[in-house]
Amino acid sequence: MKIRWLFAVILVLLLLKGFPAASAAVGNTIPLSDLWPSIENSTMISNIRNEIKAGLLFLSDLMDPKSKATQLLHEKVMDNVDQLGGLLEDVKRGNSDAILSNLLIKHLPEDVGNGEYAVGKKKVENVFIKPGDKNVTQRTVDRVASALTDVSLPLLKTGVGGKPQKDVSITLFSSKQSYGNALIKAGIPAESIQNYIEHTGGMAAGNQIWIPLYASHTRENLINTLTHELSHTALNEKNIAYKLPTWLNEGIAMHNGMLAMKKLDPQTTDDVIKSMNKQIEEIAHSNALLPLSADENDIVTASYNVEWVDYMAVENLIKKEGEKKFANFLDDVSRSGVNASFESHYPFSMKAYEKTFYESLH
Ligand SMILES: [Zn+2]
Repeated sequence: MKIRWLFAVILVLLLLKGFPAASAAVGNTIPLSDLWPSIENSTMISNIRNEIKAGLLFLSDLMDPKSKATQLLHEKVMDNVDQLGGLLEDVKRGNSDAILSNLLIKHLPEDVGNGEYAVGKKKVENVFIKPGDKNVTQRTVDRVASALTDVSLPLLKTGVGGKPQKDVSITLFSSKQSYGNALIKAGIPAESIQNYIEHTGGMAAGNQIWIPLYASHTRENLINTLTHELSHTALNEKNIAYKLPTWLNEGIAMHNGMLAMKKLDPQTTDDVIKSMNKQIEEIAHSNALLPLSADENDIVTASYNVEWVDYMAVENLIKKEGEKKFANFLDDVSRSGVNASFESHYPFSMKAYEKTFYESLH
């Protein structure tokens, strides 16, 4: 009995120190890392949650349920589990903004909420934050402003693709209804509205960004989305977004978004990246992976997060050949065109890179 108590106390200490580091120690009851590769959908994520809850109940049984340690353990574990689950769901859902908006929209309407707003605009550098409906609060606008000031803008200033130099507007929506109404005003076909409402974390067209706030559950997600969309506006402003293949356009925005998220929570971000990479490798091993140059019809029907492969392709290129080279290649795109610029900076053609990268996943 004494040994069981000692075991429980050690586990509590490990868990309070940090859940990821301790996950190996509780491997008997919480094989979280073993479960990641088989995550197929949100049902699997909720299964993992239940598994961890079951493990937690087992541990709690060993200790006084009213003790401070038990309560702390419970809060810490549940925070980590909920956070990781939420992030995985969001990342898995994908952020199909660029693909959808490339297809359908060139400009978004400026005024979308009939002028009934509880708060006014707020400006951070050259970025205007605006409410898109009357339920967007001052607190929310301030939260977005601090995300831009603290993380997104400093990161993009020195990051791949840069920061937009001209004015950008970010419109915030508090509900699916107000976002849906705005999408109708933007001219999105009625049959696509539901898809946008449920599956986009944000969108960018020209120098305008729309953010459905309900899609970003945590500050990490919000900062990821804001940085991602601002990155798109920077590429739009340089007039190179439409020249780049989708995997580069989307991969660059995801690269910056994930970097921003990592600034807030390195451990969880690394866990998400590992888990997502593993899923894509498994898709590749089952021969179900689409090539990087797959057309939009294929992408819409794919059963996995196609844009994650775009992200992996950009990460791999930057890791292999360096960020400086990548930045130089991008700088020359508007003058020389994508393929010529790529070949003048890299020792291989873009087609060859796409092929080599695709094969490396198998
Ligand atoms: Zn995007």
